[in-house]
Amino acid sequence: MPKEGSFSEAAYLACYPDVAAAVAAGQFQSGEQHFELWGRREGRQPWPKTDRIHIDEPNDLSKVGGCQVFQGWTTSLNPEDRISVSLNGEKVKSVEIPRPDVERQFPHLNAKGWMFFFEPAENERDYVLSLRIADVTSDLRFTVSPDAVQLADIARKIRRKHLDFLKSALACAMCHASCPEPSMLIGSEWRCPRCGERYDCTSSINFIPKSYPNYDAIKFKGAIYSHGYDATAEDLIAEVTQRGGKVLDCGAGWRHSVRESVITTEILHYPSTDVVAVGEHLPFRDGAFDAVLSLHVLEHVRNPFVCAAELMRVLKPGGRFLAVIPYIAPVHGAPFHFFNPTPQGLLTLFENFSTEAEVSVPRSAHPLAALKELLNAYSGFFEERAWKLLANEKIGDFAARTTDDILKSSFAAGFRQDGMMHLSGNYMIAGKRR
Ligand SMILES: [Zn+2]
Repeated sequence: MPKEGSFSEAAYLACYPDVAAAVAAGQFQSGEQHFELWGRREGRQPWPKTDRIHIDEPNDLSKVGGCQVFQGWTTSLNPEDRISVSLNGEKVKSVEIPRPDVERQFPHLNAKGWMFFFEPAENERDYVLSLRIADVTSDLRFTVSPDAVQLADIARKIRRKHLDFLKSALACAMCHASCPEPSMLIGSEWRCPRCGERYDCTSSINFIPKSYPNYDAIKFKGAIYSHGYDATAEDLIAEVTQRGGKVLDCGAGWRHSVRESVITTEILHYPSTDVVAVGEHLPFRDGAFDAVLSLHVLEHVRNPFVCAAELMRVLKPGGRFLAVIPYIAPVHGAPFHFFNPTPQGLLTLFENFSTEAEVSVPRSAHPLAALKELLNAYSGFFEERAWKLLANEKIGDFAARTTDDILKSSFAAGFRQDGMMHLSGNYMIAGKRR
């Protein structure tokens, strides 16, 4: 059944070249005529409005929270078309994200993903969200709960308090010279008078040095890293909070709740981010923090040794640190996933800076949980039919088969080539010396 919306002659012909050829040959008066006579029964799509502007999240507009991701995708005929987003008549900055799944679904159209973060304004509960691309508009009304408005207010207040703390903690990421008050920095570029390094603080406190080798490669790629703290991290935060201290959560991703005692950094500006920074050059004075957290971050840096040393530099002597890095995990967050250390490798990262350092396994990372996560990752790289065949294998039988036998099996051909760079047992490199 065709979905709700209007028929687009141009898109129908673009999607179905066989129909376009038949119309050109005079077999049908138009694409629409083809659709009415045959296309509908053949299950072809007339490009309804919901396939032109689509919203994936939130899937229930009556439950928009204190800080909410809005995301979806659009299709259009013209590759230049961009979505325009406004809330209550005011333009909202949205980010374009790659959507290979939608590109596969509409190979003849220009498919683009979009997303933005929404936080309710002070005392404002009613919103009209307008999405527009080319000649299509979609207006959505939603009302947020008084709780959501209150949560957003609390988060704003805490972030302002963080700015107070940063007055004494923030420093040039390169030479650690002190810098002007954080609130004075926002809205312009800052040049460190001591070392000359420049920082683009036009829209946030962005202390990624402009001279950073991969500066231009740091762009939002669509994946939002958003997790809560586990029990071990919560214990550490609670202990520091009780003493009135501050924790640095380095590479925090997007945290749903902001904590008064936790300062966050990330390479991109999420609503919960205090300072935009890279791990190799932390923009804080020595010993600024009572504890540091680095949760699922160090696998994403080019030089984990330099980053570990930076974490230790900004930690007070005697201060506690907690770092979590995956070992058995698919390649993720490409192109920024570099190293997965063994327990010994993890110790080596911190050996020159720590006492009483011990490696243990978080409950969520139990070897059986790792196996399950791996299998889920595998399923995403199989053709559907092939995955069903593999899923029906008994684990014991599968493990007992020879590699050669597995590679000749009927499901092996259904493993997509792009999965090789995420899940393989080894990677090899061969090249020539310069
Ligand atoms: Zn400097």
